[in-house]
Amino acid sequence: MTATIIDGKAAAAALRARVGAEVTKFRAATGRAPGLAVVLVGEDPASAVYVRAKHKATIEAGMESFEHRLPATATQSELVALVDRLNADPAVDGILVQLPLPPQIDENVIVTRIDPDKDVDGFHPVNAGRLAVGLPGFVPCTPLGCLKLLQAELGDLSGKSAVVIGRSNIVGKPMALLLLQQSCTVTIAHSRTRDLPEVVRGADIVVAAVGRPGMVKGDWLKPGATVIDVGINRTETGLVGDVDFASASQVAGAITPVPGGVGPMTIACLIRNTLVSAARREGYAMKEGL
Ligand code: NAD
Repeated sequence: MTATIIDGKAAAAALRARVGAEVTKFRAATGRAPGLAVVLVGEDPASAVYVRAKHKATIEAGMESFEHRLPATATQSELVALVDRLNADPAVDGILVQLPLPPQIDENVIVTRIDPDKDVDGFHPVNAGRLAVGLPGFVPCTPLGCLKLLQAELGDLSGKSAVVIGRSNIVGKPMALLLLQQSCTVTIAHSRTRDLPEVVRGADIVVAAVGRPGMVKGDWLKPGATVIDVGINRTETGLVGDVDFASASQVAGAITPVPGGVGPMTIACLIRNTLVSAARREGYAMKEGL
């Protein structure tokens, strides 16, 4: 069997276009554009690339982008003061502080300082709690993007067995909760899981978010399984995922490539979350299921 390749780039372009169309209507109705503030502290090159990509996507969707750069030597209180200003700014619907932060700044202090109703990254514990109990809030962009790819590929996910490999707060845990919300039977596997290949073999859906190049092999998979590869690993041969694409694509029914799978959906979901935030704050009724 040779798997269908899930085109994350195309799915992301389609989502961004839907957001853009909705932004046009939002502007007409409210007289303003949704606004996303992105804060970059220091000069980390990978972070700078992400921030540039987020800025570009925000502008392309017809939104306002507010970029704030602080030097690597910035103090925690300077960053807290900036977050407080953005929390209070009515033109700002979404606030994203690019991680990682320099060592003198406690990430927890910053993440919990952001107004949960502007936390478009979905990292605030209030939003993690809302996801856990099924209240509207913000879901982290990467797992939200994975869910959208799965729904586009499979339709209703109810009753499917899903294995999420990885239990981080930004990917693994929220991914498992989203799948549970869709009535999947969910297993969370992690570094202490025994006989991982056997666990994975029972799954209709496999989401790999580990950070180990090519760890998941084709012979771990149930034939026809849908495989979402979140991993981004820089190796001598270039960017690779957590799934061994060559062997897995011979067994899976559908699989995301790296690059071009989950990555583009993450940014598309960020601008989607920003529009959702603006709509909530303005009491603007938005299209369902965006
Ligand atoms: P993390 O390091 O916080 O978590 C990794 C998880 O993998 C841990 O929960 C750990 O228990 C588990 N793990 C480690 N070794 C394991 C093993 N041998 N077997 C089973 N589980 C094991 O990482 P993260 O932030 O969740 O990111 C995971 C990967 O996804 C990374 O490669 C990261 O670069 C990538 N990522 C991609 C995007 C995107 O937009 N595509 C976004 C975020 C993260």
